[in-house]
Amino acid sequence: DVLVELDDVRKLYGDTTAVENVTMEVERGELFTLVGPSGCGKTTTLRLVSGFEEPTDGVVRIDGSDSTDVPPERRDTNLVFQHHALFPHMTVAENVRYGLEKDDAVTPTEADRRVEEMLSLVDLDGYGDRPPADLSGGQRQRIALARALVNEPSVLLLDEPLSSLDRKLRKQMQSELRRLNDAVDGSFLYVTHDQELAMAISDRIGVMRAGEIVQVGTPEEVYRNP
Ligand code: ADP
Ligand code: ADP
Repeated sequence: DVLVELDDVRKLYGDTTAVENVTMEVERGELFTLVGPSGCGKTTTLRLVSGFEEPTDGVVRIDGSDSTDVPPERRDTNLVFQHHALFPHMTVAENVRYGLEKDDAVTPTEADRRVEEMLSLVDLDGYGDRPPADLSGGQRQRIALARALVNEPSVLLLDEPLSSLDRKLRKQMQSELRRLNDAVDGSFLYVTHDQELAMAISDRIGVMRAGEIVQVGTPEEVYRNP
């Protein structure tokens, strides 16, 4: 069961080729990481899946449907960045609840239930009424994850979400992400330049160089054939 499919995708910015010949699949439930040096096209690939960019050529399919001209808010994807941009004037629970804003089908009671469930999932039980400023960097990144997961997206897109954290916290959040991916039905598509992190958390890795995916495999396969 494939949730994300890129079929011979190319993206040009003027004369610059950001990505080309990109064909890849992310299976339901897996944590797939794109790894490669700065400028190799990782963020562009994520933006093509989220809908913030449209491909110059090729097709992006999400859960089997061609997503051409489907705007970001109508794609079953959510994005988490390095700078999580929580709302400082809202409580932790209100920040998480904001993730349900675009989902009219959810009743207030159901929303309360899901926010509680998410706070528990990211180990922030009891923090709902606090402002984000009261919490640590790692806890704030977990609020951002809860906000992005609360409307149960098919695909969570993660763009270097741990790079502003110190080494110890990054290790801790690595296992947290692995655990979250196992706990939800959707897939995670993660991008990073950090090979060690990619090896540690991924089900599969796609290695990018100069706009192309040059290798795909499990961490073991990529480690054995660098
Ligand atoms: P990465 O995420 O791996 O650092 P990017 O996807 O951000 O790589 O960038 C890939 C290439 O596309 C780089 O050469 C970058 O300068 C270029 N690029 C990315 N976004 C734009 C843009 N909006 N306009 C022009 N060039 C861009
Ligand atoms: P990262 O390397 O973390 O992907 P960048 O600093 O390369 O981040 O890019 C940040 C933003 O600027 C992205 O939205 C990207 O699309 C855009 N961008 C990157 N390179 C260029 C460029 N050469 N011209 C215009 N925009 C760019």
